[in-house]
Amino acid sequence: MSKKKGIGIHINSHFAIGVIFASILHHFFDFTLLEFLLIIVASFVCDLDIFFSKYAKDRNHRNLITHSILPSVFIIVLGIIFGWTALIISGIAYFIHIFVDLFDWGTNFLYFSRKTYGPRFLIRKEEKNLQEYLAKYKNPHSFFDFKYYNNKVNISIEISLFVIMMIVIFIFAIEYFLVSFFYFLGLYFHLSRHFKLKRIEAK
Ligand SMILES: [Zn+2]
Repeated sequence: MSKKKGIGIHINSHFAIGVIFASILHHFFDFTLLEFLLIIVASFVCDLDIFFSKYAKDRNHRNLITHSILPSVFIIVLGIIFGWTALIISGIAYFIHIFVDLFDWGTNFLYFSRKTYGPRFLIRKEEKNLQEYLAKYKNPHSFFDFKYYNNKVNISIEISLFVIMMIVIFIFAIEYFLVSFFYFLGLYFHLSRHFKLKRIEAK
């Protein structure tokens, strides 16, 4: 039985947080399009480490160095060395992603301690018998995916982030408004996966 975990806070919500953050700061720092995109990419890019899950402890991408505090510290230091404000802010955006991930399934925050940190609201209850819960599903991803979409708080947070993103980019960064449309790419990724898992489990 694979112990690989599903993605918690979804990539589209991390994207929305990135847009909100970049748009508000754009008001003060007047970013170029490239800088604006850099900050947003920094806010979701580490979830692409899911493709390297097989190298992670317990096959959980949240245990990889990319989901620890180290890359954000590295990016911030680089930003300070080059005196590039947008790079420092990108490092902070990366850090916010890791911080937010602490609240659903947790991450290997300090990396070298090889422990999962965070309040881990989505998993606490089942953690002791996780294998038992996972065994109920044909695909272990289904456990995490269904738990996410059956949680009204998750759905409310996801919708709220989308609405706030649209309002904030409209007010503070209207010239980059079209960037918000990439949100739907992330949403499509998760929804198509959700319905695929639903079909698999229904068989
Ligand atoms: Zn993540």
